Amino acid sequence: MNTQPTASHFINGAFVEDSSGTEIPVIYPATGEVIATVYAATPAIIEQAIASAKAAQKAWGKLPGTERGRILRRAADIMRDRNHDLSVLETYDTGKPYSETSVADATSGADALEYFGGLAGAITGEHIDLGGDFVYTRREPLGVCAGIGAWNYPTQIACWKGAPALACGNSIIFKPSETTPLCALKVAEILHEAGLPAGLYNVIQGMGPQGAQLITDPRIDKVSLTGSVPTGRKVYAAAAENIRAVTMELGGKSPLVIFDDADVENAVSGIILGNFYSSGQICSNGTRVFVQRGIKGAILARLTERLANAQMGDPLDPDTTFGPMVSAAQREIVEGFIAKGQAEGATLVTGGTRPDKDGFWLTPAIFADVTDDMTIAREEIFGPVVSILDFDTEEEALARANDTIYGLAAGVFTSDLTRAHRMCAGFEAGTTYINTYNLAPVEAPFGGMKLSGVGRENSKAAIEHYSQIKSVYVGMGDVEAPF
Ligand code: NAD
Repeated sequence: MNTQPTASHFINGAFVEDSSGTEIPVIYPATGEVIATVYAATPAIIEQAIASAKAAQKAWGKLPGTERGRILRRAADIMRDRNHDLSVLETYDTGKPYSETSVADATSGADALEYFGGLAGAITGEHIDLGGDFVYTRREPLGVCAGIGAWNYPTQIACWKGAPALACGNSIIFKPSETTPLCALKVAEILHEAGLPAGLYNVIQGMGPQGAQLITDPRIDKVSLTGSVPTGRKVYAAAAENIRAVTMELGGKSPLVIFDDADVENAVSGIILGNFYSSGQICSNGTRVFVQRGIKGAILARLTERLANAQMGDPLDPDTTFGPMVSAAQREIVEGFIAKGQAEGATLVTGGTRPDKDGFWLTPAIFADVTDDMTIAREEIFGPVVSILDFDTEEEALARANDTIYGLAAGVFTSDLTRAHRMCAGFEAGTTYINTYNLAPVEAPFGGMKLSGVGRENSKAAIEHYSQIKSVYVGMGDVEAPF
C-alpha cells in the first residue's frame, strides 16, 4: 500500500501542501520504518483552513437536516465499502493489528456517520405554550468547530467529532495527533466524495503549537479534544479565554471490580479487553482490577494462561492479535511505569519485556499484589500493563474504586444482579459496565467525570454539545408598557 498521502492537509475540498512547516515523519510502529512524511501547518495553512470553514458553514447550517444527513450516510457506506484499505492504513498509522482495525476503526467511524446522519433530520427545538404568547426554540449550529485528536483511534476520533459536528450544521477543522496523521485525511476525502461541500471538513497537521494556534483563533466556536489531562487543562483554559464550548475526552485510571461470584472466563475476557486490546492504549481501560480474595487465584492463573495465547507478529497478518506500542517514546513511558511498579513492591507475574524485534514491541504485563498507593495504581500508564489489587467487601471495593482523580469508566463482574446495579450507581465514572467491558457503541453516551472530561460523545447527548438553543418569544396580543 502507498502510505504517502497526496499532501499533508485537506482544506476547502482539496489536498494542500506547504513543505515549509516542520517535517513530521510517519513511523510504522511494527518496524520503526518511516512510511510517509507530512508537514505541520504553517500559520498560512491554519488561516486557509479557518477561512474556508467559516465561509462554508453558513449555507450548510441552513440546509434541512435530512439533506446534511444523506451525505453523512453516503460517506458511511463508502467507508464500509473500503473497510479493508482503511483498516490497513489504520494499522500502518498506529501499529494495531489488522484483526482489530478491520472490526473497530473504520467500522466505528462509519457507525458514527450513519448514526448522526440518521439523527440530523430529527434535530429540533420545542414549543413552549404560555397561554396565549408562546416560545419556540431553535436548535442552531455553533459555527466552526476545532477537533484535536489522540493517536490511538485516528479514524474513529476523526469521525466521532466530525459526524455530530456536521450533522448539527457546523463546519470542522480536525488536527490529528502528529503520531498518526494519515487516517483523518482519508475521512476528509471520503466525506467529499459523498458530496460534502468544500470547506466543511478540513484536516490540518501539526503538534501542540499548531493545535494551540487553531483553538485560540476567535473564529473557532467550539473545541473538542481527545487527549491527556495535562493537554486538556491547556486546551480548556485556552477555550475559556474566548468563552467557547468544549468537549474534553481525557485520560483515565478506571476500576474493574470482580466479585467471587463472577464467571471466571468472562471476567478474564473483560480484563483482556480492558487492558490489552490496542496494546493497552485505550483511555477507558480498566487498569485497576480489584479482585475479591476468594477468586484471585483462579483469575490470575487463567489470565496468565490466556495472555500466553496473544499472537505477536506482523500486524497485517489476520492471525496476529497483539501489536506494538505506537511509538518509541510511548514504550519508554510504559517501561518507566513497569520499573516503578517493581521498585514499589508489586509482583510482576509476567511480561513487560522487549521481544527481539524491530519496532516498539512490549510483551503484555500483569502486576499482582498492587496496593492503592503505588504509582502504577494511581497514574495512567497507557500501555499493556494490568494491576491486580485484592479486596474483601463491596463497600471497600467501591470506595477504593472511586479513590482516583479520574472518572472515565468503571466495570463490575458479578452474578448478583442487585449488587451490579448498586456498584454502577456508586461508581464516579461516566461510562460503566456490568459483566462486560470497553464496548463503545455510537448509540450510547461516552465520556468522563472528574478529571476525565467534560461533555459526552456519541448518542443523542452529543447533539447538545455541537449545537446551541435560541429562544424565540412570540407575542400574540397587545404590548403592555408601564408608561
Ligand atoms: P496528548 O494530550 O499528548 O495529545 C492530544 C492531542 O492534543 C494531539 O493532537 C496533540 O498534538 C494536541 N495538543 C497538545 N498540546 C496542545 C495544545 N497546547 N493545544 C492544542 N492541542 C494540543 O495525548 P496523546 O498522547 O495523543 O493521547 C493519549 C491520551 O489521550 C491519553 O491520556 C488517553 O487517555 C487520552 N485519550 C482519551 C480518550 C477519551 O475518549 N477519553 C480517547 C483516546 C485517548
